[in-house]
Amino acid sequence: MPKVMLTPLGVVLPTAAQTAFKLLSVNDATGQLFLHPDHTYTAQLSIDMDDGQTIVVPAWRVQYSNARGPYKGGIRFHSDVDLAEVTTLAGLMAFKTAVANIPLGGSKGGVRIDGRTLSATERERVARAYIRAFGQCLGPTRDIPAPDINTDSATMGWMLDEYERMVGFSSPGVITGKPLSLFGSQGRNSATSLGGKYVLDKLLDHLNIKKHPLTVAIQGVGNVGGGLARLLSEDSRYRVIAISDTHSAVYHQTGLDILDVLQHKEKTGSVENAEYTHNLTNSELLALPVDILVLAALENQVTAVNQKEVQAKIVLELANHPVTSEADELLSQRDIVVVPDILANIGGVVVSYFEWVQNQQNFYWSESDIQVRLRQIIYTAFADVAQASATHNVDFRTGAYIVGATRLLTAMRLRGVIH
Ligand code: GLU
Repeated sequence: MPKVMLTPLGVVLPTAAQTAFKLLSVNDATGQLFLHPDHTYTAQLSIDMDDGQTIVVPAWRVQYSNARGPYKGGIRFHSDVDLAEVTTLAGLMAFKTAVANIPLGGSKGGVRIDGRTLSATERERVARAYIRAFGQCLGPTRDIPAPDINTDSATMGWMLDEYERMVGFSSPGVITGKPLSLFGSQGRNSATSLGGKYVLDKLLDHLNIKKHPLTVAIQGVGNVGGGLARLLSEDSRYRVIAISDTHSAVYHQTGLDILDVLQHKEKTGSVENAEYTHNLTNSELLALPVDILVLAALENQVTAVNQKEVQAKIVLELANHPVTSEADELLSQRDIVVVPDILANIGGVVVSYFEWVQNQQNFYWSESDIQVRLRQIIYTAFADVAQASATHNVDFRTGAYIVGATRLLTAMRLRGVIH
């Protein structure tokens, strides 16, 4: 068994969550419950590297809430991962599944290792070691992992295999984001991007924005940012003029040829110097005078210090927690609309939910079924958040926390966990 921390580290929820709790008259005792995960598991993974060395890296699984269904959340392989980050992200997952109104809770996992530099065989060893360490805390009705930063469908396939070896029976619903041939779902790879696009479309209707094309800058050209760039480039209402990776950004005033840029990145490992583009720094990209800024990279990218530079009118959080709480308040004072992560990026976990349903039923849906069902859930979540924001006269993030917390509180009350 992995070690259990007896006093789990607290969840750092954004200021907007605290405002939502106040508006919902959440008392101190319940507030305490919201600030702590149900369980925190920790382990040291021993990994044999290809060069013959053995390294030992810390890993975590944090289960925040299962009041609304089995714990659910991705696993990241990143050199900056620590317990505080995994704990906060586990909390965000519970609010995301509640905003999406799907019958799942929230959890998160992480390994402190640079996933980008691992060979396929090393990545497989990390994936299997993670499941050997935490498999007993997982299960299709207990806790269901998924991909996150630097983990992908192949990683999920190895994790499934290791889990099934452990329990001795087939159990595809233990993990989502699997390869299609290992009972993954149609549309899972592009789900977060497509969900983000549906949110953006709905936002334009809601704000009655008729102008087009709207210019877009995207921070992050990974699966999520790159996927959204592709979708937006197929819609004449949008024009993607800049996109970045971890090293560099590229820009073209009249719009990028996204397929070209993605191909260049595939070939050279970076977007830098893609044909017919100008190179920019990451901070220059954040400061572009665009209509929409999409944050699809890491946490804490827009801070109290650099928020002054942001000129976009709309900020879409496709990554988890890319805008700090201090920056959030300042952006809101400047009338910049921030669409929060717990609404903007729910597409991934919603299609994970569909994958889990298909696994439990052993009956598989078409890509168009997935898209129709995803759109329905996103539109409803958007409308619920917009209504809560209007009723309480608050920004979208506070509105989203009001929706999520109300659903969590109702479940906790009906279970008798709170009164
Ligand atoms: N890692 C994704 C997220 O942060 C997906 C999680 C899931 O599908 O469980 O939302």
